[in-house]
Amino acid sequence: MYPLYRPYLSGKERQLVNECLDSTWISSRGEFIGKFEQQFADYVGVRHATTVSNGTVALHLAMLAIGIGPGDEVIVPTLTYVASVNTIVQTGATPVFVDSVESTWQADPSAIERAVTPRTKAVMVVHLYGASCDMEAISRICKERGLLLIEDCAEALGTLYRGRHVGTFGDVSTFSFFGNKTITTGEGGMVISNSADVHKKAYHLKTQAVSPTQEYWHDAVGYNYRMTNICAAIGIAQLEQVDRILRKKRQIAGWYDQYLAGLPVKRQAEPAHSTHSWWLYSVLVSQELRDSLRQHLRRRSVETRPLFPLVHAFPHYDTGQQFPVAQAISKSGFNLPSYPDLNEADIRIITSRVREFFEVTESVDVDCEVPASSKRYGVG
Ligand SMILES: *Cc1c(COP(=O)(O)O)cnc(C)c1O
Repeated sequence: MYPLYRPYLSGKERQLVNECLDSTWISSRGEFIGKFEQQFADYVGVRHATTVSNGTVALHLAMLAIGIGPGDEVIVPTLTYVASVNTIVQTGATPVFVDSVESTWQADPSAIERAVTPRTKAVMVVHLYGASCDMEAISRICKERGLLLIEDCAEALGTLYRGRHVGTFGDVSTFSFFGNKTITTGEGGMVISNSADVHKKAYHLKTQAVSPTQEYWHDAVGYNYRMTNICAAIGIAQLEQVDRILRKKRQIAGWYDQYLAGLPVKRQAEPAHSTHSWWLYSVLVSQELRDSLRQHLRRRSVETRPLFPLVHAFPHYDTGQQFPVAQAISKSGFNLPSYPDLNEADIRIITSRVREFFEVTESVDVDCEVPASSKRYGVG
């Protein structure tokens, strides 16, 4: 069976976790926490980073730290993971959904512009599946309209826009280290910012809003959103391998491009001026074939995952709006196995099972093909 994902734990994870056990520093204090935060901030190129217990609370905390709350509107793409939107609601603010760009699947800057109202406080962008949003256009809108910018980078560690890591454009940005993310700590997350004030607020709220000077004195409604030293230990070991992981994922994407060429599948376009980090290699096929192709692959031991359903249509939101571009992407797309230890032979097997499906399916809609772009990936 080819699973969709499997963490890559071939570094010092075990050794560092054992150090936690041996030293008894297994809770949310210990030397690995600060070290992981510093190394992560250095890697991404940002001034401050604070660890949290997962990528969802990272978003909640990030928004609280920049002052989002009741009465505010936050613009967010409907094509995203549900946590992006739930956490907006958890701050007391209102999510305002926008459609996506057809080729890149990311939040549409022109739709963002149209969604701005006098109550808009912030835009949350989500770099889906490892691709970057159009940060030039979106940063410009935020600047012109005086809006805060939050980047949900849960799926985009290592993604660059004009040579800069995503996460460094926003007033505050977040990452997830869930088991299937580019690097993992089991469960975990990070909130980053270049603002010392935002960082201070995030730290304060994640540690029960305890006063820095007076023991057991709490001056706001706080949270326990801390990461454990054990998770941070795993994070340090993972971060040591991040470039290797990203290199492997780029190679896997190149093999997929190569072996899917000529088939009626269309992959997510790499946005202009950006470097994709290929969290999950994702493709579109015709809507009528998507589920039967996934079923065929499942029978042939290849696990896939549908693209996210649109969040605005979930029963707890159900806004009754129409987002035709995001809708078409969501219903036609799926993710292929994308874990770092896949090799070329694996990709050949997986893609031959895709090919097999189209060979036995008569009604093939051939208007979409993978761009002949594999030359970009060349080995190494
Ligand atoms: C994974 C993910 C999250 C949430 O992260 P968890 O660590 O699972 O809580 C948030 N947003 C996006 C886009 C994600 O993919």
